[in-house]
Formats: sequence, structure tokens, C-alpha cells
Amino acid sequence: MAVVWITGASSGIGEALAKRYAAKGDQLVLSARRKEELERVQRACMGQGVNEADVLVLPMDVTDFGAMAGLAKEVADKFGRIDVLINNAGVGQRSPCLETDLDVYEKVLTINTLGPIALTKAVLPIMLKQGSGHIAAVSSVTGKVGVKNRSAYATSKHAVMGFFDSLRTEVEDKGIKVTTIVPGYIQTDLARHAFSTEETAANIEKVIAGGMDADKCADVIVRRLSNGDKEIAVGEGREMMILPIKRFLPGLAFRLVASENQD
Ligand code: NDP
Repeated sequence: MAVVWITGASSGIGEALAKRYAAKGDQLVLSARRKEELERVQRACMGQGVNEADVLVLPMDVTDFGAMAGLAKEVADKFGRIDVLINNAGVGQRSPCLETDLDVYEKVLTINTLGPIALTKAVLPIMLKQGSGHIAAVSSVTGKVGVKNRSAYATSKHAVMGFFDSLRTEVEDKGIKVTTIVPGYIQTDLARHAFSTEETAANIEKVIAGGMDADKCADVIVRRLSNGDKEIAVGEGREMMILPIKRFLPGLAFRLVASENQD
């Protein structure tokens, strides 16, 4: 039985991951800002067979860096260890660069990039003391290839890839696994809650409907994390094709993303 801490557990991919780990019988820590939504997810986890005492609801804002060491201690004190941390909380952005205030860049980078870095730095000493642990971070296909109207989001997710790939080189030989997760379009609230302009908000429901089911996505992530995979691409739309194209034919990838309309 592993102790699995999931941020962004109040909806979407994080909620689906929580239910999947509960079905495996693991102990869970559910974090996000909305306590009542976390409690709803806690009840759903109990519906998968785990006890209430095995699912800790731990509300947090990933931008409250000063609180993180205390929260990590709270988890370690309750369960005695932290086996898996999934840095999943995040926010979207859908707007052209020149219509995006610097303030939005700051918020997106603080939530999507500094949040996972700060929480990882709080949890890592506990895992190092244990001599084992697994840290994952949810990036995006947009963390591999920048696309139109996502300049803040793409920046934040490319930075996630850079941080966690670097971290792996420092901690792998100390028993700590590090995994980056690279989803394509998944059916969640991400686009609904994104920083966006009125114009770019128009197509959101169509985009969401075309995505992969979040439970299916969570199945893939949980299975491949338990294999110890270092990078997990997950999605079923044609956006996934850009990953091999960018790697082997970068010029074609740049032409393709330039011709796509990303509202
Ligand atoms: P959701 O909007 O459904 O979930 C986002 C989660 O992040 C919510 O639980 C939200 O909870 C939490 N969150 C947002 N801001 C904060 C904050 N400041 N502090 C703590 N928690 C926060 O979207 P997804 O499930 O899609 O998003 C999960 C991850 O997947 C994100 O990192 C996203 O970038 C990534 N991703 C999603 C894709 C998609 O197509 N859906 C594609 C690629 C990557 P609350 O509001 O309660 O705080």
C-alpha cells in the first residue's frame, strides 16, 4: 500500500487519478484549493473501497510556498511516509501574446511551474530520508511544442519538463524516480477555467468534447507510473502526432503548429 499525494485532486485528471489509486487500495492525500470538492472526491474514493482515514483531504494553494514544508510534515506524520507525489495542479491560458498581460504570465508560471518546484523541494528531503520515492509532474504536449495562443501555458509547461528532467539526474541514484507526464487533450475543466479572452473562450466546449476521457487517461498514467516510466505521453487525438514529428522533422512541426488555429 503506497502513500500517494495528488495536487489538483478536486477535478479532472487529479480526481480520476485519486479514484484509480483508491481502487488499488493505496492511501491518498488530496490537495487543491476547493475543500468541498476535495471532500466530494474523498467520498468517491471511499466508494472504491478505501476507508475515510486512508484519504487525507489537505487543502492547499500551490502558490503558497511558505506553507509547503508544514504540509509535507503533516502528511509524513499522518502516514509515516510519502511514496508518490503527483504535481498535477495547473491552470490554462488561451490568448494571443500581445493581448496577454504580463500579470497572466506571472500567475500561470507561479501556479504551473513554481508550484510543483516548491512542493517537490518540500517533499524531497522526506523521500531522500526514506531512500525511496516517486515524483511526477503533469506537463503537456504544449510543454514539448509551443502552439498559437498558449505562450504563457507553453512557457510554464516547457519549464516543468526542464526542471524535472534536471532533477532526475540528481536524485535517480538515491532511489528517487522522476516522471514527466505529457497529456494531449483530456476532457476536464482546464479550458473552462483558463485565463482567456472572450474570443478564445468561444470554442472551448468543442475542444473539450474532442479530448480523451479523464478516467482513461488516469488508467494509462497509473499503469505507466508503476512501471517507472520516465516520460508518459497520453492522449488519443491527432495532437499526439506532433511529438514524433517535432523530434524527427522539426521544420514540419513548426509549419503544422503555425497553420493550426488554437482558439
Ligand atoms: P482541471 O481544471 O480539471 O484541474 C485543475 C486542478 O488544479 C484543479 O483541481 C484545481 O483545483 C487545481 N488548481 C488550480 N490552481 C490551483 C492552485 N493555485 N493551487 C492548488 N490547486 C490548484 O484541469 P486538468 O485536470 O486538465 O488539469 C490537471 C493538469 O493537467 C494541469 O497541470 C494541466 O495543465 C494538465 N494538462 C491538462 C490537459 C487537458 O487537456 N485537460 C492537457 C495537458 C495537460 P482548485 O480550483 O480546487 O484549486
